[in-house]
Amino acid sequence: MGPHRGDLLKKELNIFTFKNLLEHFPYRHIDKTKINRISEINSQTEFVQIKGKLIDVELVGEKKAKRLIATLRDPSSTIELVWFQGIHWIQKTLHVGKEYIVYGRTGFFQGNVQITHPEMELANQDISDDKFILEPVYPSTEKLKSKGLGGRQIGKLTRQLFSLLSEKDIPEILPYSILRQLKLSGRFKAFSAIHFPDNLQIYTEALNRLKFEELFVAQLRMGLIKSQRHRYSKGVVFNHVGDLFNSFYSSYLPFELTGAQKKVLKEIRKDTGTGRQMNRLLQGDVGSGKTVVALLSMLLAADNGYQSCLLSPTEILARQHFDHFTELIKELPLSVQLLTGSTKSKERKKIIEKLINGSLDILIGTHAIIEDAVQFNNLGLAIIDEQHRFGVAQRAKLWTKSPIAPHVLVMTATPIPRTLAMTAYGDLDYSVMDELPPGRQPVITVHRYEDNRPQVMDFIRSEIDRGKQAYIIFPLIEESEKLDYENLMKGYENVKAYFPEPKYWISMVHGRQHKDTRETNMQRFVENDTQIMVATTVIEVGVNIPNATVMVIESAEKFGLSQLHQLRGRVGRGKDKSFCILLTSGKLNQEARERLKIMCATNDGFKIAEKDMEIRGPGDIGGTRQSGMLDFRLANIIEDRQWLELASKMAAEQLDKDPELSSAENLMLKNHLFLQHGKTQWSKIS
Ligand code: ADP
Ligand code: MG
Repeated sequence: MGPHRGDLLKKELNIFTFKNLLEHFPYRHIDKTKINRISEINSQTEFVQIKGKLIDVELVGEKKAKRLIATLRDPSSTIELVWFQGIHWIQKTLHVGKEYIVYGRTGFFQGNVQITHPEMELANQDISDDKFILEPVYPSTEKLKSKGLGGRQIGKLTRQLFSLLSEKDIPEILPYSILRQLKLSGRFKAFSAIHFPDNLQIYTEALNRLKFEELFVAQLRMGLIKSQRHRYSKGVVFNHVGDLFNSFYSSYLPFELTGAQKKVLKEIRKDTGTGRQMNRLLQGDVGSGKTVVALLSMLLAADNGYQSCLLSPTEILARQHFDHFTELIKELPLSVQLLTGSTKSKERKKIIEKLINGSLDILIGTHAIIEDAVQFNNLGLAIIDEQHRFGVAQRAKLWTKSPIAPHVLVMTATPIPRTLAMTAYGDLDYSVMDELPPGRQPVITVHRYEDNRPQVMDFIRSEIDRGKQAYIIFPLIEESEKLDYENLMKGYENVKAYFPEPKYWISMVHGRQHKDTRETNMQRFVENDTQIMVATTVIEVGVNIPNATVMVIESAEKFGLSQLHQLRGRVGRGKDKSFCILLTSGKLNQEARERLKIMCATNDGFKIAEKDMEIRGPGDIGGTRQSGMLDFRLANIIEDRQWLELASKMAAEQLDKDPELSSAENLMLKNHLFLQHGKTQWSKIS
């Protein structure tokens, strides 16, 4: 092709090489033998292919409204074809009186059916075309279309390319044992058939083969990173369980651990005893009891003479952990300190001194821990709570705090669907706590409209009269921050009218307050000095106040599913029956309605996460990690779950048999991975 169109192809579709073109897959195929009659087109018709004579071409309108309108006639009727862009170029290519095959999406304008920016081809122009019954249609752009490189024309390029290729140009990379076992088609055949299949079955086979390849290669890459870390990384050794751990476990632990907590602790002990660095993601639904797992792991570190730290996303949470830990281990000979942004500089200096001389065992804090000035004597374990609040770079800094990288335990309460975890976190060690402490009752969740507000307030009052507490949460959406604060204040006044002082007291907590005010208000609620907490989502994660039994979420339609689930997780943390009330206006769109329905139907964070992924797509779930790791060309981790599971299993087996992929069978595969290397973020930390 000429340089002009070549450049456009690069700019518009990132197609620079033959390989790029081969991997620009069609999104559908048209059955070329099927021609629609114009008279058959109705409002249900989406794409049509018609054949007819061009009887008129006309330029109408002025300036911006200028458009090209052509009329096509077939034996049944006539139809208008419309162009808004590339008008002059297109006008030159249209010849009144000739027969065309026209393909495009139908639309209605003032009651008349028309096709905008259709793809035009002279009928019977290229006889060899006809042997392809299923003609591929490719993603294209308006710009390319206006230069004659629409979704069908790109197929001509691809076909031309294929006429130059032979089997050796697209060599097999999958091991033959796998091809045989899964009865997958060969690579060359698959590439050729995904573009130019003879029939639907051949197309499906090709598609499956290439999807499998994509997923398998990705799983293999993750598996390699993981197994190499297991074999070559260096980690400090926690080789024994000592007095601190044991005496805490037998004398001070306020409850029996759940099976899931025990399982995870075992995994952590095993990891940290090997001399390899642990890099473990711990996922546990809200309220599953991750905090005590963190504490016991820190005691394990201390038993082996190492310091540890716990990083929390907010000051409120860090303080809560600190208070909780100091209370629980007050009888143990350990020193624990809190370091946050509001720690006074004199105090901070002292803490750093003690960290460096080794007299401080456990440090709890916020981002302040990551700052360069904070150095340790021998940091052996770093725990990160609610990881989705931290960026990758911030977390990576923890690695530099010690000559041998500390063990890292990342805890998250945002459940990640299994398939997503496999693809996005496949290189990490991964634990799930899928069990709640005994005696918990599911939070009863209901959806109420604005009109029901008085009843909702009455209900809160009845709970308070029983000695319980309530949260009322207002949304905070960045684009309309000012408005949101106004709403919050209005809401606060409103609540106050229902719950007048001095019978009732209300705490208000939001991000614009001075830290001290926020802290005091929080503390008053913790101590049941105030019965109601009016807040923005600053309390979304981690806050643990078991006496609170009601969670009202205002404008609940503005929240995403995982956020709603997190917020709901603030109640139902004690033995009492708890309630979550989702308040909304009457006007809800379909997606919001869906979200609210799911919330009312289940308390299971993993089910909610699956739904969330279905609604929003995998790319939007759970922060920075996945972007780039999920951009499969063909596979879709929701629809192709079975292929993903299979690919994951096969990749693990292959690495078991041949950890370095050095056998003859795996040579091509290794080569392929190596060539893709640049694509991979070989990140060490979750
Ligand atoms: P999360 O996993 O959401 O961080 P927490 O660690 O805050 O959960 O625990 C939630 C509540 O459950 C806390 O009040 C905690 O004391 C309690 N808890 C944790 N483990 C157990 C257990 N094994 N038995 C009973 N209660 C537990
Ligand atoms: Mg927590």
